[in-house]
Amino acid sequence: MSDKLDLMADGKRQMELCNACRYCEGYCAVWRAIEWRREFSDRDMTYLANLCHDCRDCYYACPFIPPHDFGIHPPKVFAGLREETYRKYAWPGKWAKALGERVSGFWATFVFSILFILGFMFVNGGVEGMLQPHTGENAFYAVFPQNLMISVFTLLGLWMVAGWGIGASRYWKDIRSGKSIKEKVLFKDIKTATLYAASLKYLDGEGAGCTYPSEEPAKSRRLFHHLVGYGFLLDLASTTLAAFYEHILHDPAPYPLLHPVVILGSVGGIMLIIGLIGLLYLKSKSDKDVNDEKAVKTGSAFSVALLIVAITGMVLLALRETAIMQVLLAIHLGSVAALFFTAPYSKFSHFVYRYLSLVNYAQEERVANEREAIKHAKLVKKAVAATSGISAKQ
Ligand code: SF4
Ligand code: SF4
Repeated sequence: MSDKLDLMADGKRQMELCNACRYCEGYCAVWRAIEWRREFSDRDMTYLANLCHDCRDCYYACPFIPPHDFGIHPPKVFAGLREETYRKYAWPGKWAKALGERVSGFWATFVFSILFILGFMFVNGGVEGMLQPHTGENAFYAVFPQNLMISVFTLLGLWMVAGWGIGASRYWKDIRSGKSIKEKVLFKDIKTATLYAASLKYLDGEGAGCTYPSEEPAKSRRLFHHLVGYGFLLDLASTTLAAFYEHILHDPAPYPLLHPVVILGSVGGIMLIIGLIGLLYLKSKSDKDVNDEKAVKTGSAFSVALLIVAITGMVLLALRETAIMQVLLAIHLGSVAALFFTAPYSKFSHFVYRYLSLVNYAQEERVANEREAIKHAKLVKKAVAATSGISAKQ
């Protein structure tokens, strides 16, 4: 039997035991989703795995963890299955598997940076031409023509978005198959899921934080996650605003330090750097017995790749008026290109699958709450009828 089947079969065995125990009820969304099921299919397991955010509360609370014969270890099983998700649903299938297993963000950054340096040399007629100082308006495009830069990043952006889009549609189709028309997703489910995602609700541990990196609850992981998430969004806003200035207002980069594009980009960059270093630090301190080695490797590779983007962006901003601007620009563009190229099958795709799992969860939660409310109303009606019957007799 393959490792994948072992993991899936063992996960189902563990979930059946957990469903009989239910001590962890209320720890996170996973436990309510387990409660609504009697049997666990492959697609259920994949969905639960992407709903789990590895807080480890259940592991530290469980009396049946290894070396107990039951060998219960939900965070490890889910981490292993999440890893499978990044390859199984990604597009293009075989490429995703091969690239995901062999090309890390770091190596992709290295290769793309070299390609950009070679490209700069080609465009500028050799090393000397490339190293000519370029400052002031349009300095970046003097090294690398604007149209070429737009074409390269449009292609990479399309690759990334197509990869995520196809992966999302495959994943959604799979986890939603077998649902009836009554279980359709409503706009309010999307709203609930978005609120859960934006607030990182399940990393909060009801106010105490999560048991990561050790058994002691801490809020640092949620804080660092917030810094990374919102820092990334600020950088995205900065890039979008830069495109607006350039193409609509015909005011090209580089911009002065107090320009809105630079302010948004710098604040986002600093948030990203602090958040990513924090998450990498927590990972290095996390309990080795609970970790899934492969998942730790994938997660760290993505954090390092994103950290290189943030750091090279900040260094480029600080040294853009110097003679090494061209080299820094090549490395920064290389790191961004690597991030785009590996995005569909790296840990970067995690947010896609997690968000869809939250939408599915919000729909299931709403239906379960509605059913409970109907049941409750019936019980109240029965009790009222019984009480009025007694009163009438009296
Ligand atoms: S993880 Fe352990 S304590 Fe929690 S529900 Fe499963 S068996 Fe029970
Ligand atoms: S590790 Fe945390 S998020 Fe994952 S199932 Fe256990 S309690 Fe839920």
